[in-house]
Amino acid sequence: MATVTLSNVVKRFGAFEVVHGANIDIKDGEFVVFVGPSGCGKSTLLRMIAGLEDISGGEIAIGGKLVNDVEPADRGIAMVFQSYALYPHMSVEQNLSFGLRMTGNPKADTDRRVKRAAEILRISELMDRRPKKLSGGQRQRVAIGRAIVREPQVFLFDEPLSNLDAELRVQMRVEISRLHKELGATMIYVTHDQTEAMTLADRIVVLRAGHIEQIGRPLDLYDDPDNLFVAGFVGSPKMNFIKAQIVGCDAHGVVIELAGQETRITQPLAGAAPEAGSKVIVGVRPEHFGSAGEGDTDLVVAIDVVEHLGGTSFLYARTAHGEDVVIQRDAAKVPTTSEVTVSIRKSYLFDEKGLRLR
Ligand code: ATP
Repeated sequence: MATVTLSNVVKRFGAFEVVHGANIDIKDGEFVVFVGPSGCGKSTLLRMIAGLEDISGGEIAIGGKLVNDVEPADRGIAMVFQSYALYPHMSVEQNLSFGLRMTGNPKADTDRRVKRAAEILRISELMDRRPKKLSGGQRQRVAIGRAIVREPQVFLFDEPLSNLDAELRVQMRVEISRLHKELGATMIYVTHDQTEAMTLADRIVVLRAGHIEQIGRPLDLYDDPDNLFVAGFVGSPKMNFIKAQIVGCDAHGVVIELAGQETRITQPLAGAAPEAGSKVIVGVRPEHFGSAGEGDTDLVVAIDVVEHLGGTSFLYARTAHGEDVVIQRDAAKVPTTSEVTVSIRKSYLFDEKGLRLR
């Protein structure tokens, strides 16, 4: 069973702690994405799983076996890097077979594994080429092929698509999903790109500054974020955040003052009601703004720019208090006036510290 378990994993570089006690349980065959802004510690976590970085505290187990002191080569993992790390003087075939040849793997088995990897990645016709005669996408396929031939228990990907152009990135994203289905292997994938995380992952681990902010399935993070950071990180264009103040709470919901208007949010809070006068942030996804009267709050906004994407349009607008909001509309329903009244069909409430009130 290729489970991967991190228990209270800490990483320090000198006196500087960059991972503050991570607990993550990855199931056999699961595709888990570590996502977060630059410097949040996602590569360091991956490198600790790979054995390329020492662990300052806690435990890492792969397939139920503690690997804290196990050499990278003996962990049953294979890693794919952003930089491809191909040998320039070797053909594709030699690049794929090199690792197995070095360990003295029988030739017939090496040939079989290389042939299979090439077929899976559709690079069989490129076997005689050198890396410099390959496109970026083909190079990344060879790099992934080198991981496949090792038949690892766990694949580790460190931002493997960052060097590719936008179109190729989308194409390779689909390829990696297909690969996961075909191999059924456990995969851990690091990216700062929330779209990549949302589309690839069975579960996402959202990191910030060495802390895990939330772990969950992509749509659960999207629909039910625990805090302002996750709410703002997942989704594009991102959730709108509008400052407001609590007027009062009752069994029917919360009354707030928002952009100079008193309004009711008809979602009762299960937790403790915030005090009247306390400051809150109302989060509204662009698609949750409706036409006037459709939702809780009617809000007048001034439209600055309209972006037409085809079926959908985005209105970049401002509230009466000058806060920027992005509103999603069907192309056919884009208003022609410079001001429009929108309603809030669904919203999230956060306290001043960014914790979700629910
Ligand atoms: P990025 O997306 O930019 O690669 P990341 O989330 O992968 O970021 P890490 O590379 O894991 O972040 O780095 C986490 C923190 O640890 C950063 O503050 C970084 O500066 C620091 N760090 C990483 N490697 C070292 C090192 N060898 N020595 C000292 N500090 C390091």
